[in-house]
Amino acid sequence: MLHNLYESLDKKYPEMVDIRRYLHQHPEVSFKEYKTAEYIANYYKKLGIEVRTNVGGNGIVAKIYGSAPGPTVALRADFDALPIQDEKDVPYKSTVPGVMHACGHDGHTATLLVLAKALHEMKDKLTGTVVLIHQHAEEFAPGGAIAMIEDGCLEGVDVIFGTHLWATTPTGTIEYRVGPIMAAADRFEINIQGSGGHGAHPHTTKDAIVIGSQLVMNLQQIVSRRVDPIESAVVSLGSFIAENPFNVIANTAKLQGTVRTFSEDVRSQIETEIERIVKGTCIATDSTYTYAYHRGYPAVVNHKQETDFLVKAAENVTDLSKVTEAAPQMGGEDFAYYLQYVPGSFFFTGAMPANEANAYPHHHPKFDIDEKAMLIAAKTLGTATLEYLSVQKSEEAAV
Ligand code: MN
Repeated sequence: MLHNLYESLDKKYPEMVDIRRYLHQHPEVSFKEYKTAEYIANYYKKLGIEVRTNVGGNGIVAKIYGSAPGPTVALRADFDALPIQDEKDVPYKSTVPGVMHACGHDGHTATLLVLAKALHEMKDKLTGTVVLIHQHAEEFAPGGAIAMIEDGCLEGVDVIFGTHLWATTPTGTIEYRVGPIMAAADRFEINIQGSGGHGAHPHTTKDAIVIGSQLVMNLQQIVSRRVDPIESAVVSLGSFIAENPFNVIANTAKLQGTVRTFSEDVRSQIETEIERIVKGTCIATDSTYTYAYHRGYPAVVNHKQETDFLVKAAENVTDLSKVTEAAPQMGGEDFAYYLQYVPGSFFFTGAMPANEANAYPHHHPKFDIDEKAMLIAAKTLGTATLEYLSVQKSEEAAV
């Protein structure tokens, strides 16, 4: 059956490229992906596949039923683009000013649509159900995943798989990881209320710039002195605003930053430690503050059994030596939420353009993917699906 699937996908590869290029030319930003959603829904309707639209927003859920009941496998692809100007010089460059698919979600969508078509064609041989989750708004928290889950996209689902095409990893490579593979990404904001005044009379003021500067340095101690060194964490300040004329002492200062963690314990610890340091610094400088910590996506934590399963599937598709363990990434992904509800695994599919000079990082204005990676992603997801359905079937038979 795997052989049939691979042959079918090989044949459909040009269609995958066409779809990806069409979407690449017509990108839409998070929460505004109306036409993309319509395009996806129409694709399924034309094939006679059951499809539900407006799931948790612009999300789409399609279902392929096998000829006999069995387990339910969900596959997820996101489809939003980014507010970035496409600076590539290719025939399929974005036609929308200031918007582009700079993270490969067009490729994720093309991969899943064509894989769905191939699976639909062999549905008489399938035991169980395949759920295709096309998720809107991955790039912008709170994201589309949580809303789609609340709207029932995981109902009846036994396992979920998803991949991210990764343009800085060579094509042909599949990177997996048991446990955390992507970080929780949070944001915080601190407002210091000092007391401004004349630059010539510092003793009559509480200088918000000096207080803020102490904070910048004191916050460095969280990762270096307070978090267990075996754990990974980042506390970065991206903004420190206290703008005044040169001879005025700042009345207020605003600091904003991001926190990246893999463990929920460390995440909560850092949220508390930041406030402890802010509070202490303000007591010492006789100033006051406000502090807000905004939780973004949690860490993507892969389940062991399902990841082992996925690795076996990947080894069927690409060279053994190219199925490798991923280093955890400090970037965030709302695939994290699905894994809090059902077991599954999220992996990276290498998609580095053949000409390495064209390999730009994700979210870069010249970002592009090696389209051949879509075929590898489709085969890997397809193998995992078929194997999962058939393994579960034989287990049930054995009982
Ligand atoms: Mn992405």
